[in-house]
Amino acid sequence: MTLEICHLYGNLMNTYGDNGNLLMLQYAAKSQNVKVNTTLVSLGDDFNADKYDIVFFGGGQDYEQSLVSKDIQTKKNELLKYIENDGVVIGICGGYQLLGHYYINASGQYLNGIGAIDFYSDSKSSTRLIGDITTYNQRFDITLYGYENHAGRTYLGKSVTPLGEIKEGYGNNGEDKTEGCMYKNTFCSYFHGPILVRNQALTKVIIDLALANMNRRQKYINA
Ligand code: GLN
Repeated sequence: MTLEICHLYGNLMNTYGDNGNLLMLQYAAKSQNVKVNTTLVSLGDDFNADKYDIVFFGGGQDYEQSLVSKDIQTKKNELLKYIENDGVVIGICGGYQLLGHYYINASGQYLNGIGAIDFYSDSKSSTRLIGDITTYNQRFDITLYGYENHAGRTYLGKSVTPLGEIKEGYGNNGEDKTEGCMYKNTFCSYFHGPILVRNQALTKVIIDLALANMNRRQKYINA
């Protein structure tokens, strides 16, 4: 069986070693004797919701995000279908921001997200939120360690669960002690590091979900 990973806009959205998350996912799957196939899906490509077990969407600069914000609208319906059908997604920083309603960047430009999850991001001030960060995820009883560097401030809708509660650092907005978010099998975070290399307990949660999806997908293909 082959675990199918989609590296969404991986040639544009790959700041601060975020691609290390892919290496970690590949390593975790191979340690369980599962083959891995990674596909780059970028500008002008189709995203097919039925094809993947994991989507990884890394961080990026404002300029790259402006290109991605336009292109991702062409993939919006399939991405929403994938997320609603419990597909596993990891969205980091700039990728995270574009999964919400919108991101207003540091120059005040309004970038559309796909509204897959109820949150929005803006850059109220010119200061960036930079430094080491530690949070606690109650659902999985995991302390998460990382590094953040973002201008955007993210505000979650009332029904959205944060990925972690801030112990050290700024997180979503530097105000409400929340960091990232979880929705179905979509996990979003401002953590670089990369998050999955520094936090192997989270990698285990994510790979287990993805392998369960892979088994379901294969059964469906073979039916
Ligand atoms: N450009 C976005 C911001 O500054 C995202 C940055 C990132 O992905 N590191 O908030």
